[in-house]
Amino acid sequence: MRKTAIVTGASRGIGRTIALRLAADGFGVVVNYAGNAAKAEEVVNEITSSGGRALAVQADVANPEDVKQLFERTLQAFGQIDVVVNNAGIMPLSPIAKGDVETFDKVIATNLRGTFLVFSQAAQHVAEGGRIIAFSSSVLAKNFPSYGPYIASKAGVEGLVHVLANELRGHKITVNAIAPGPVGTELFLDGKTEEQIKQISSMAPLERLGQPDDIAGVVSFLAGPDGGWVNAQVLRANGGFA
Ligand code: NDP
Repeated sequence: MRKTAIVTGASRGIGRTIALRLAADGFGVVVNYAGNAAKAEEVVNEITSSGGRALAVQADVANPEDVKQLFERTLQAFGQIDVVVNNAGIMPLSPIAKGDVETFDKVIATNLRGTFLVFSQAAQHVAEGGRIIAFSSSVLAKNFPSYGPYIASKAGVEGLVHVLANELRGHKITVNAIAPGPVGTELFLDGKTEEQIKQISSMAPLERLGQPDDIAGVVSFLAGPDGGWVNAQVLRANGGFA
């Protein structure tokens, strides 16, 4: 049976490139999205027109019923789940002094509760030998002002990775996170000036902004045969933005 991967948040940005890369690696791919159905269908069409198998499934990762259905529909369509990449995430910025609890709750819901819910379904359904991959961020080490809610959510994600890896003892399933540095997607670029983008891009010793392909290559490694001995790790893929 051909292997299957679920990629959350695969309509745009890094997730889109991960879906295309895993399809090129031979996986049937479920392209999850929150609201952008047309963009998700574009990704599906790109995969199927190159001979791959793909299906778009709407699900809000913060909603338990949606996440349950995402896994059920994947099993119905493909019969098996080998890889789960929980890439969906948001990054609205807000200084702690503002006390913007709505932003805090939204970021925690999507990034942390979303990871918890996707992990829960993945732990129940991923086949032996499978891979579970979450998304943290290298900005965790920077403690930039206004990143409080986002950094709190990603610190929580890293905690969940280590616990789930232990809970899956005996199942031959790895659980890891990737923590990208800045990557040129809407999440990073929106609301920043040219000057800010240039300044942040030059922080890594490799002196450029990461691209979705840089991260999709790391997912491909963790999901593929050579990544099998990497477990319970946070892989900081950031050009040295440490
Ligand atoms: P984008 O904003 O470009 O894309 C976000 C994707 O997530 C979209 O496909 C969106 O779907 C989906 N999404 C958002 N909310 C939900 C939800 N509640 N349920 C399901 N899907 C959702 O983000 P990036 O590609 O830049 O980010 C991907 C991941 O990488 C995130 O976890 C982010 O935190 C992490 N990251 C990104 C960095 C960067 O610099 N870009 C750096 C470090 C980490 P839709 O199109 O339907 O809205």
